[in-house]
Amino acid sequence: MNLSSLLRTSIILIAAQSAAALSAEPFSLPDLPYAYDALEPQIDEMTMIIHHQRHHGAQVRGLNAAVAQFPELATLSLEQILRSVSRFNDFVRNNAGGHFNHTLFWQILAPAGTGGQPSAELLAAINRDFGSFQNFQSQLTKAANSQFGSGWAWLILLPDGNLAVTSTPNQDNPLMDIVQPNGVPILGIDVWEHAYYLSYQNRRGAYVSKWWDIINWHEVSRLFQQLTPQPADAAR
Ligand code: MN
Repeated sequence: MNLSSLLRTSIILIAAQSAAALSAEPFSLPDLPYAYDALEPQIDEMTMIIHHQRHHGAQVRGLNAAVAQFPELATLSLEQILRSVSRFNDFVRNNAGGHFNHTLFWQILAPAGTGGQPSAELLAAINRDFGSFQNFQSQLTKAANSQFGSGWAWLILLPDGNLAVTSTPNQDNPLMDIVQPNGVPILGIDVWEHAYYLSYQNRRGAYVSKWWDIINWHEVSRLFQQLTPQPADAAR
């Protein structure tokens, strides 16, 4: 390669990188951390394909499309958008919420038998705030089953450091400035019918009950740890 072709190649590479940095599509659909059929039988492969590619995919496209109307979306993180979502419109609210919610949902699931158990620290916080793991499980199950219509049920960390179970309609979530109580979700269950209808039809309760078998407690514990200063950290 002579000098001029080397220069030309470099210029093309720099131009391509700049174009990517200035892309009008700042949001992208994350890959699943496992195969589409990895959560069977609790969640079937076809449901996962449609849910990830079509439902979540449409929300990522929607959020990218909204950048034309709200250019500042491209300069904010997804979490910053949600924390100030009242400044935008319902289209941004639904698509930014959906993008965050589904990204978290894929992340906190794992094939049955591989997700481990809550960390000692998370389990201690659950026992402190709910009395027992069983009480926590029944509260979250109840929140998921009783959310009327489409929505989500959550385990969130409140600003005071306590855990709480909540639910939100549609694609809202507890990070949004318009949602009370406000907090950071570390676990969430999608109770839209698209999440379970092919295998469970109207039996949401059966889906919620099987969902407990495919939680990635390693990941939920990591999210909790990340948000919670530990005594050991403070002592350093
Ligand atoms: Mn969904």
